[in-house]
Amino acid sequence: MTAVPARRRIFVAGHSGMVGSAIVRRLSNDPGVEILTASRAEVDLRDQTRVHTYLAETRPDIIILAAAKVGGILANDTYPADFLYENLIIETNVIGAAHAAGVDRLVFLGSSCIYPKFAPQPIAESSLLTGPLEPTNEWYAIAKIAGIKLCEAFRKQHGRHYISVMPCNLYGTNDNFDLKTSHVLPALIRKFHEAKVAGQKEVVVWGTGTPLREFLHVDDLADGVVFLMDHYDGAETINCGAGSDVTIKELAEIIKDVMGFSGTLVFDTTKPDGTPRKLMDSSRIAALGWKPRIGLKQGIESVYEWFLREKVPVLTSA
Ligand code: GDP
Repeated sequence: MTAVPARRRIFVAGHSGMVGSAIVRRLSNDPGVEILTASRAEVDLRDQTRVHTYLAETRPDIIILAAAKVGGILANDTYPADFLYENLIIETNVIGAAHAAGVDRLVFLGSSCIYPKFAPQPIAESSLLTGPLEPTNEWYAIAKIAGIKLCEAFRKQHGRHYISVMPCNLYGTNDNFDLKTSHVLPALIRKFHEAKVAGQKEVVVWGTGTPLREFLHVDDLADGVVFLMDHYDGAETINCGAGSDVTIKELAEIIKDVMGFSGTLVFDTTKPDGTPRKLMDSSRIAALGWKPRIGLKQGIESVYEWFLREKVPVLTSA
């Protein structure tokens, strides 16, 4: 008789967020996985004692750390203490408690903003800590770099198999559509939608429209994270990106087209551009055998369908 292999128990920290919920969806297809989640009311990841108790009690085989305080360019710049402090404390608690509970495997999620503002493009993993950061999101970036280094340190000192995955700019189901705190892609979907409904002639796009950004659908990212969980075990960060980028103006044109808006774009140059470009070099994950599947236009179409279905438009104006 063949033995039934044990199901892997995977704790997804941050399961209600855009990234965490996509990872839960991806793992739900795998009968060999038991998913563990905990709401903020059950386990506040900022509470060190609670996190240690929870992980000591549950002892998952693997942790995917997708919990983070995230936000767009304005939110990062406006709430530096929240972005630095909350992210540091979540990472420190979860990574430290994982080790204390004997959890040998962990996947930490960062962001392409951890790389230097003027890193050679496309940005290789080896660019980390070779130059100054983009000031608008350095608070978040510093916290994420600390998380990467924590994983590396537990690997070096205790032999833990903790890895760090760097996604590019993400978008998808369960994104944040609040104009004050969101990233550009959901912000523009909402702005074009509202302009269309109200019959407005113009949509305001922040900055000059010239910065370049690389956008990956969160379902692709979730697939990449699960792939790396089983195919990568190194101290260095590993990039997981779409492989190409667009200017913010091009992005706005694609969204305008998908949504059938016939008005014009107005650029508000009093708002920051942020980093000029952050296209990642994703050749290492490609060499391992993974590539994204969802094209940008197709991804935007599916997000807009979700946005309409979920009635996200019932929003207050910002
Ligand atoms: P970033 O990649 O960290 O800079 O994050 P964002 O997604 O917030 O911004 C990306 C770029 O889009 C920046 O150059 C913004 O100025 C620009 N952008 C244009 N319109 C908007 C908008 O309505 N909201 C946001 N968040 N960014 C916008």
